[in-house]
Amino acid sequence: MAGKICFFLLSEIDMLSLFELFKVGLGPSSSHTTGPMKAALRFTQFLAVQPGGDKTANLDVRLYGSLALTGAGHHTDRAILLGLSGKKPETLDPKEADTIIETITKNGLLALGSGGTIHFNALKSIKFEGHISLPFHTNAMRFNAFDAQGDLIASRIYYSVGGGFVVDEDEAGRNAPDVVGMIPVHEFTSARELLQIADASGLSIGDLMLENECANKPRTEVLSGLDEIWMHMGACMEHGLAREGLLPGMLKVRRRAPDLYAKLKQRDPQPKQSCERSDWVNLWAMAVNEENASGGRVVTAPTNGAAGVLPAVINYYLHFVEGADAQGVRTFLLTAAAIGCLYKRNASISGAEVGCQGEVGVACSMAAGALAAVLGGSNAQVENAAEIGMEHNLGMTCDPVGGLVQIPCIERNAFGAAMAIQAARLSMLGDGQHAISLDEVIKTMFETGRDMSSKYKETSQGGLAVNIVEC
Ligand code: SF4
Repeated sequence: MAGKICFFLLSEIDMLSLFELFKVGLGPSSSHTTGPMKAALRFTQFLAVQPGGDKTANLDVRLYGSLALTGAGHHTDRAILLGLSGKKPETLDPKEADTIIETITKNGLLALGSGGTIHFNALKSIKFEGHISLPFHTNAMRFNAFDAQGDLIASRIYYSVGGGFVVDEDEAGRNAPDVVGMIPVHEFTSARELLQIADASGLSIGDLMLENECANKPRTEVLSGLDEIWMHMGACMEHGLAREGLLPGMLKVRRRAPDLYAKLKQRDPQPKQSCERSDWVNLWAMAVNEENASGGRVVTAPTNGAAGVLPAVINYYLHFVEGADAQGVRTFLLTAAAIGCLYKRNASISGAEVGCQGEVGVACSMAAGALAAVLGGSNAQVENAAEIGMEHNLGMTCDPVGGLVQIPCIERNAFGAAMAIQAARLSMLGDGQHAISLDEVIKTMFETGRDMSSKYKETSQGGLAVNIVEC
């Protein structure tokens, strides 16, 4: 049972770049796959500069809390091996990842990213200690390196704090070095400030974010970076639409997107003219999340588990909104990022900290606000849409069956996307005035997550995870 945990607020990060929020990595989980891979890579870099680090003969890795309880289903052990091999999630090809794992498993040898090759048996040397929770965060891992005599050379604790962000034991509770903060032109820490600054400067939320990004990078780089994010999201969706078969894991879940795609193409040869748009939205979201569940290349938005919501809503925009174009996709991503930053700063985007409201709920809120923006909504309507997008996800638990990011995750993304569209449309019918502010709903989400039993926070010890018979 995971014990008491402390909650991690990135309050010392002034502003996050959208390129931190939207990261390319491998599925199925940003906190349980991407984060541990980055942590393992960081440990090899740490080891490389320790006295005697080059004499490493043996490694021992311990996973704690949620990482241990759902790590097997989330490919955490694979991620550790890849990180120790010196691989980065953003550049590693999924096929190369399979080859590396097969080689290590077959030969029992691990070529460390820091140099040198050691004997390594993952079954014995990666230990899942779900009964232990370290005080700072439930997603904790310890790496120990030993020499040939069994003497300890180096030991380090890392925490995967959601969305692929990682801090080590010294950084816990303060700014994370892998977070590239921005020096913003327009600094905001709350939705209220965001609206005030945008209104005072006459900017849309998307343009305000663009000015912030352009203060740190050439404009052409920012724009091409945005296009690249959408390109990766689209590629992930295309893969999901084409790949048939079973998803990895004991649940033997069949990929549904290819069949569904064939049916919808037959029914609606021109998707733009479809009367059943929600079927297409379901398809697009599920395609992304089936690809994520298979360990494919995914963009965190804001996490892997919730990666299908934004691409599905962007595709809704491109297919069903008159006048949609590439510039609109950039505006969508910029606006979504502004909203995502508020959750990252003032609450959490980690299912292990606050349940699924922090993943699919946040993605829904981001997509709702972003869709309102590209539908021509005012800043107040964008804020209203984002608030509605979270309000009806409050309390949503994280209870992945078998520790796999499949049930309920895949369908849940489809529902997150549908709800985002509803929220945006509702806000567009109003004038932006509403009773509960986005800041209030973010605060409520965080408090609700804090009150939630650990059974419902990515431990697979409650909810659907214990009421479905695994076969
Ligand atoms: S239930 Fe939600 S938070 Fe939990 S693993 Fe699935 S998508 Fe992530």
